[in-house]
Amino acid sequence: MTVIPHWLDNKPFTGTNGTSAPVTNPATGAVTAEVALASTDDARTVIEAAAAAFPAWRDTSIAKRTQILFSFRELLNARKQELAAIITSEHGKVLSDALGEVSRGQEVVEFACGIAHLLKGGMTENASTKVDMASIRQPIGPVGIISPFNFPAMVPMWFFPIAIAAGNTVVLKPSEKVPTAALWIAELWSEAGLPAGVFNVLQGDKTAVDELLTNPAIKAISFVGSTPIAKYVYETATAHSKRVQALGGAKNHAVVLPDADLDLAADAMVNAGFGSAGERCMAISALVAVGDIADELVAKIKDRTLSLKTGDGTKDSDMGPLVSKAHRDKVSSYIDAGEAAGATVVVDGRSVQADGGSDGFWLGPTLLDHVTTDMSVYTDEIFGPVLSVVRVGTYDEALELINSNPYGNGTAIFTNDGGAARRFQNEVEVGMVGVNVPIPVPTAYYSFGGWKNSLFGDTHAHGTEGVHFFTRGKVVTTRWLDPNHGGINLGFPQND
Ligand code: NAD
Repeated sequence: MTVIPHWLDNKPFTGTNGTSAPVTNPATGAVTAEVALASTDDARTVIEAAAAAFPAWRDTSIAKRTQILFSFRELLNARKQELAAIITSEHGKVLSDALGEVSRGQEVVEFACGIAHLLKGGMTENASTKVDMASIRQPIGPVGIISPFNFPAMVPMWFFPIAIAAGNTVVLKPSEKVPTAALWIAELWSEAGLPAGVFNVLQGDKTAVDELLTNPAIKAISFVGSTPIAKYVYETATAHSKRVQALGGAKNHAVVLPDADLDLAADAMVNAGFGSAGERCMAISALVAVGDIADELVAKIKDRTLSLKTGDGTKDSDMGPLVSKAHRDKVSSYIDAGEAAGATVVVDGRSVQADGGSDGFWLGPTLLDHVTTDMSVYTDEIFGPVLSVVRVGTYDEALELINSNPYGNGTAIFTNDGGAARRFQNEVEVGMVGVNVPIPVPTAYYSFGGWKNSLFGDTHAHGTEGVHFFTRGKVVTTRWLDPNHGGINLGFPQND
């Protein structure tokens, strides 16, 4: 069985402890490889490579760094089908969706190609008499990126293009469920001419993560994953004096007002509820139907849901399998619990006939109506193809539901009333808001991030916040004395 290795100094590194975990193809259930799980010593070896490469990379000209970024972008653009195929084989999402994820990641590479402009500082002449002041931003050092299973390429790409462009070196710890995409990306960097040690991959689990969080050589951590781990990562890494952005889980609501275009809303609910089998942190899992539209809206969503084809992501399917058997069983048990608690199962994904291997991790799209806020299917992040309809009477009740939820990643409102939409965007306590847009993922030049338990730390991913995160500011105050300088003066300088 192939063992998927780590990557350091532009070459594979198998590690020293011989521990590994199985990697599966979710559409067949077959184990396709093993992934190396780093020991603490392995993690230190990879971190040391990143630390050793930092001084030279930091001093590499912006012109040269940008050239390498452009080369990486060209290679990625030309070969992204390969990466998409790897994602589908380990995650299960359909190929078109995998390609979409790579393209969204590529947008951040393109944003980072403009790093010369983004790193420009400011300069003030004569801040005091003959004293000039300049602000500059400098890289912070080796940084750790820890990513979840659901976006093996896009989530790491939220961070590393900007980190590298700004002069930092990187250790990427991908999810052990989807380890190959990171290695493919590492090889591409090497082909693009990135010097050894600037981009490294550390495969593994908690042992690898803990070393990244505590090793003094690592100066910053960008984490994306579930809320309990995000909180742990934030608390541990900040206690070790690192800057941290830790993006957590989500429970995203879409509000449909009575005046909305119900066909548009129904299409949007199906796309946002069941795309990537609901394994997206921006998936809509709670539909809040306001007023008397619920019956009509549920009927429209039901029709559309029944037309979806669940199957192998390499075939002509709308939706692939879930990432693992354990996860599929867990999601399925939430449907059981919802039904037992009184929810109406309008479309039941538990009985799906999937076009794929008999041992694949299948669960079809599921629509639950009359869900109430005390049911676990509503309170918990399910991270599967389950859309729950909660019926409320008024806009205020809908808003209260969202604002009292512990998560605050994404939300959307469907309405034709501009005033209502404007009020919603102003009042809702969520980091990313869509108006008639179900998955409002910001483009690379804006920043991605939620509020409340969906993000620990105060800096969102990519955009100018990303540049800020991967650099630190310095202000230089300069006086060049001319021959007429005023001699000794022990007083505090006056601003004159
Ligand atoms: P996860 O929290 O289980 O794993 C994320 C990363 O943390 C992985 O690399 C994993 O190896 C590591 N990890 C897991 N357990 C750990 C532990 N005890 N100690 C240290 N490290 C540990 O998340 P997942 O299941 O891979 O991904 C799904 C979750 O990610 C969902 O909750 C989803 O909402 C969230 N997510 C959030 C965003 C966002 O932008 N907010 C984006 C994508 C995914």
